[in-house]
Amino acid sequence: MAPQIRRIVILGGGTAGWMTAAAISHVLAPRKVSITLIESDEIGTVGVGEATLPHIRFFNQRIGLDEPELMRATQATMKLGIQFCDWARKGDSYIHPFGDYGQPAGGVDFLQIWARLRAAGLASRICDYSLPVVMAEAGRFGFPGTDMASVMSTFSYAYQFDAGLYARYLRRVSEGRGVLRVEGKVTSVRQNPETGHVETLSLGKGREIEGDLFIDCSGFRALLIDGAMGSGFEYWSRWLPCDRAIAIPTESAGPLMPYTRATARTSGWQWRIPLQHRVGNGHVYSSAFLDDQSAEDELLRHLDAPALRQPNRLRFRPGQRRRQWVGNVVAVGLSSGFLEPLESTSIHLIQQGITTLLELFPDGPLDARDITEFNRVMSLEYDRVRDFLILHYHATERDDSDFWNYVRTMDVPGSLEEKLTLFRERGIVMKYRDGLFLFPSWIAVYVGQRVIPQHWDPRADALPLEQVAETLSALKRHIADVVHSLDTHEEALKRYCPAEVIA
Ligand code: FAD
Repeated sequence: MAPQIRRIVILGGGTAGWMTAAAISHVLAPRKVSITLIESDEIGTVGVGEATLPHIRFFNQRIGLDEPELMRATQATMKLGIQFCDWARKGDSYIHPFGDYGQPAGGVDFLQIWARLRAAGLASRICDYSLPVVMAEAGRFGFPGTDMASVMSTFSYAYQFDAGLYARYLRRVSEGRGVLRVEGKVTSVRQNPETGHVETLSLGKGREIEGDLFIDCSGFRALLIDGAMGSGFEYWSRWLPCDRAIAIPTESAGPLMPYTRATARTSGWQWRIPLQHRVGNGHVYSSAFLDDQSAEDELLRHLDAPALRQPNRLRFRPGQRRRQWVGNVVAVGLSSGFLEPLESTSIHLIQQGITTLLELFPDGPLDARDITEFNRVMSLEYDRVRDFLILHYHATERDDSDFWNYVRTMDVPGSLEEKLTLFRERGIVMKYRDGLFLFPSWIAVYVGQRVIPQHWDPRADALPLEQVAETLSALKRHIADVVHSLDTHEEALKRYCPAEVIA
């Protein structure tokens, strides 16, 4: 009979490894499991990853972290959403906010009312009815409130931070909670000849680490989940052709934006993420349409401040592991798969992997049903993020490069085709229980990408037109007034979490 899980071994000390160590050491402390994390300074980490989603705040809270201290330590800024420039057409711009649009009336969703008023020429941009969009555009910030009657309760926020500093912070927390860190490079893996389960990781010179459960956070190398367990990989490059990135930090320039910017380029897109001490920039592109040097030139041409380092070139494969938990190995982080950072989903998927593992954590020996459930949940998460990302590329009118012609005309997964049709024809956003991006996120990207509902809920026609139009105008004025009364983003940071100034 398989043993109880008493010894957990985490391979890798990037963001995934230390998030896992911090969470497990906090949650499983009463079970008295030992946690060992192995990392190799010689190999290092991927060294990118700066934009997050609001869920990270709840993860941090749950594992007992102090927000202002964490933000100071990671040079963090506030993030209210992502601005997409030049995606549907050159010159277009919209923000996907972390928050709602408008309010329902007479039991009819706001989107349906807006679609009807828009057709009658009585509504302005949908963004004007979203507090986080107006706040982001004004460069202001206030914390969300809990009074459901207030417009300040209609949004959430995330961070833009240095993920390397986040991992360092979590390492300190984890070691304080008894996690044992081992420095060294795993050179071989011993598996049980009968079950195939991993038993020991060898670090050379006779150093061996034994465990009952192994969490593979070894990044793109996927040393255990793929190298040892042969989990296989599902490639999604036919829908997400970007497979390269170049990252480069620059000095801070201009006001500190409380949002991330993603600007479409000829064969991909460029990110701009302002932190307190610098700005993160990068170009994500498809090697099938653009060579590395041209991609680097395009990125450097569009920087708005002097670079602080040499460009860092990265390669990746879009897709997911066929199984993210095999035997006694669970993949978390880049070892489990990768979807480009367009919607800042990677750290969230790490978090999702950890929380799902903890929810299903075996009380006794490993149970095949837990493993199946873990793989089902994680695969669903990946599928839904994938569809959401594809939408940004596919729903475009751009025809100015081979890349845009390809993504605009490609076949998309049936699950996305169905969603697009429902929205385009009737403004229906498919509702589902699991999945990261909910109603307002889909609306933001559909409308931002110029997918406008042609018809709406007939109940919207029954509402008094003039009266509803006036309610919307009043909401727009109210949001503008509230935003005007808030601190600038810089003031809010100075007051709440000023980071050390790095010369
Ligand atoms: P890594 O950082 O690669 O860490 C792997 C660890 O494994 C290292 O400690 C390494 O030393 C160790 N290791 C490997 N092999 C061995 C061995 N043999 N022996 C011992 N140790 C070993 N995510 C976001 O959420 N937001 C973003 O804005 C974002 N931007 C990104 C941009 C790009 C271009 C890329 C590629 C990724 C981005 N990500 C982003 C993803 C994010 O960087 C990763 O999800 C995150 O850093 C987690 O990485 P990791 O810990 O899985 O892997």
